[in-house]
Amino acid sequence: MTLNGKTAETLVALEDVHLSFGQNEVLKGIDLQVSKGEAVSIIGPSGSGKSTILRCINGLLTPQSGKISVGETRVDQLKTEAEKIALRKRIGIVFQQFNLFPHLTVLDNITIAPIKILGTPKAEAERHARELLERVHLSAKVNAYPGELSGGQQQRVAIGRALAMRPELVLFDEVTSALDPETVGEVLAVIRELVQEGMTSILVTHEMRFAEEISDKVIFTENGRIVEQGPPDYLFHKADNPRIRSFVGGLS
Ligand code: ADP
Ligand code: MG
Repeated sequence: MTLNGKTAETLVALEDVHLSFGQNEVLKGIDLQVSKGEAVSIIGPSGSGKSTILRCINGLLTPQSGKISVGETRVDQLKTEAEKIALRKRIGIVFQQFNLFPHLTVLDNITIAPIKILGTPKAEAERHARELLERVHLSAKVNAYPGELSGGQQQRVAIGRALAMRPELVLFDEVTSALDPETVGEVLAVIRELVQEGMTSILVTHEMRFAEEISDKVIFTENGRIVEQGPPDYLFHKADNPRIRSFVGGLS
């Protein structure tokens, strides 16, 4: 479906997006739609352009050609830094590295952006932060410092921090890749709950079983192109493509 013909439900749309770093074309015509409330997973080999797609959606990178929209905003046409900051307020992003402020408590890590960027009154920001800490199952850690938490707990704080801005959309970029295996599950559980609550989510992940379980749609990227996209059952079990078959490997 084209941008012009998009349904009211479409929240994110990319149309023939091309992006190069110097001579290196890393996105070679990406078409992608995400509807409100959907969870879309992006899988594919390292270097295939997955993170670059996310960085285009939140305006950190501007493609050389193609259209990107988030709601009514034409992201590819944003000119000023102020316009890009306004876009980024609407989009939560969680990375492999949590990047919490080490000198701030969990509560302050979550409230700092709403207070400083949105101008939310402190009491209201703290009320919301406590609610979010319940959602990420960390109420007991409200006054802890990041250094006192496990990787999985820190990543759950980072998810709470992203949600504190009341985003329309959350981007997750390999958020469990740097975690000890025993804490991966607790982070995936939090994401699963968010998705079930209807948070529009785009996830770059190597957790194939998780992607299969929670996604409305899965995208397989390779070498700057979307090789295949469809419902998880199709991608993981039916797609007749040897590259995908070998990538998803043991799943049957
Ligand atoms: P993935 O997330 O799928 O591993 P990326 O989107 O990070 O892949 O990278 C895609 C390609 O773009 C890679 O070849 C990478 O080296 C290149 N690339 C990513 N960011 C930059 C950058 N800032 N400058 C130059 N090349 C980059
Ligand atoms: Mg990446």
